[in-house]
Amino acid sequence: PRLANQIAAGEVVERPASVIKELLENSLDAGATRLEVEIDNGGIKRIKVRDNGGGIDKDDLPLALARHATSKIHALEDLEAVATLGFRGEALASISSVARLTLTSSRDDSGQGWQVAVSGRDMQAALAPAAHPRGTTVDVRDLFFNTPARRKFLRTEKTEFNRVDETIKRLALSRFDVSISLRHNGKGVHNLRAGLGRVEMERRVAQVCGPAFMQNALHIDVERSGLRLWGWVAEPAFSRSQADLQFFYVNGRAIRDKVVSHAVRRAFADVLYHGRHPAFVLYLELDPAAVDVNVHPTKHEVRFRDSRLVHDFLFGSLHRALADVRP
Ligand code: ADP
Ligand code: MG
Repeated sequence: PRLANQIAAGEVVERPASVIKELLENSLDAGATRLEVEIDNGGIKRIKVRDNGGGIDKDDLPLALARHATSKIHALEDLEAVATLGFRGEALASISSVARLTLTSSRDDSGQGWQVAVSGRDMQAALAPAAHPRGTTVDVRDLFFNTPARRKFLRTEKTEFNRVDETIKRLALSRFDVSISLRHNGKGVHNLRAGLGRVEMERRVAQVCGPAFMQNALHIDVERSGLRLWGWVAEPAFSRSQADLQFFYVNGRAIRDKVVSHAVRRAFADVLYHGRHPAFVLYLELDPAAVDVNVHPTKHEVRFRDSRLVHDFLFGSLHRALADVRP
């Protein structure tokens, strides 16, 4: 079973950023309103995610790590089929098979919780009491310490840190209601307070995208025939490194999509300059039945039922908003 987990780990555990994404999704699933991420060496040496969610029952702690997975993989030949189905329900098992993982959790406010520790294939999930406030802490050390082949694919500390940072930013812009902090090598990188007011949201956007973005940004909020587009767009001229300042969410989920990027690019190119990267933080909201988010296992892709309608709505809304400020 541990071997199966290591194989499975290739699906969800590619690098520190993917570990963090899985851990944070678990925290949000558990209803957390505060996420604290601490990493060392770009996350290669250590990843610690602490949340204030509902926690895990003592009896469920070993299960959370052991639960698999194996029923899905009977032979290597199945791997391809599994990959296309998408792999859910084994993030913790996968991570713990390729790292030293400690899971500590408490369900109440007694200050008392429980802890299990696993180290690679050594599945000694011994349960021990541990002090912990309500919520869960997952501590992941020495990623890929027992899988040198996979370890080779890790990039420099700086590159891995950048990917972690990108993951945190993408999440931060989708959950203004949750406070999020990131520390790297003991130093604070982000400390984002929760808040759903316009001022609080714009403060967070400025923290994530930089003050220059917010100073140049135009706020838009357009609603037509069941579609709503809101957020901030900025003239592409304000900074050189804005290629990464493109955040697009469909019903709260970060996505990359050809229909979307085409519509956005055309609207910008039409009104502003050609050949530059537009910068934007945009949220498209529509009837969940009009969009299929399960096209791709990582769920970064979507399929719109009426992509023509979505394209024209995006293009039209952005074009009008941009033309208003720069006729
Ligand atoms: P999945 O999230 O797909 O169920 P995971 O391996 O990511 O699979 O997590 C296994 C289980 O462990 C979850 O279903 C959940 O019950 C529990 N769990 C994991 N992380 C947390 C957390 N931060 N807070 C509460 N429960 C958690
Ligand atoms: Mg999960």
